[in-house]
Amino acid sequence: MIQAATLFGFNSQRSVRKRQLSQDDNHAKTSDDELSLPGQGLTKEQAFFRILDGHWRYMDNQRKSVQTTSEDRSRHAQGQFPFAAILGCADSRVSPEVIFDQGQGDLFVVRVAGNVVGDFEQASLEYAVGQLGVHLVIVMGHEQCGAVKAAITHYGSTDAGALGRLLNEILPAVIEIRGSEGDVLSKAVRGNVCHSVDKLLERSTFLRESVDNGVLRVIGLVYDLASGDLDIQRTEG
Ligand SMILES: [Zn+2]
Repeated sequence: MIQAATLFGFNSQRSVRKRQLSQDDNHAKTSDDELSLPGQGLTKEQAFFRILDGHWRYMDNQRKSVQTTSEDRSRHAQGQFPFAAILGCADSRVSPEVIFDQGQGDLFVVRVAGNVVGDFEQASLEYAVGQLGVHLVIVMGHEQCGAVKAAITHYGSTDAGALGRLLNEILPAVIEIRGSEGDVLSKAVRGNVCHSVDKLLERSTFLRESVDNGVLRVIGLVYDLASGDLDIQRTEG
């Protein structure tokens, strides 16, 4: 099921994918008791289908009106039990809780301009998987990413400041597409997502082993600001 959904991608075969999701929906439901289990008791496949299901509500303008009640606050105060971790860009237009239509406590979100992977992002995601029991990590880039655009624009310039160090993290994707034709920014955004997935799994022995052992899935995808579509670039595990 998951392989089929991945192969179909997010930009085509919508009816097929939607039908598959509805068939699998019963497996992705979480009871109140399961909300207090590590990763909400979801496998990596169930977690991914919950993400897809939420994205479909978002795309269909049917987002749940998520209310945080006093009971919810009391439950959250006892601990956090997110079912997925997201490494996303800090851009104000790409909030994972909105795009995937999830509520407070559902997603462990790490956001940094250009969705790059450094020590702190790696450590945060290792915490989500190792301590919180998350079985799904999504690296989400987006079209028209200002950080990637800046890395292209300032390619070759030397900036020793913090911004320069951040842009340097995106350089591998910029170098890869130099000289190519077409939408260079879009290509670099895609390359940067793949680079972040690769770097995360190269840096983190724990996450690499979790993928190899079959308990963790890492997905790299790109969000389209205008259409809302998601385009999967990489699936590990
Ligand atoms: Zn961005």
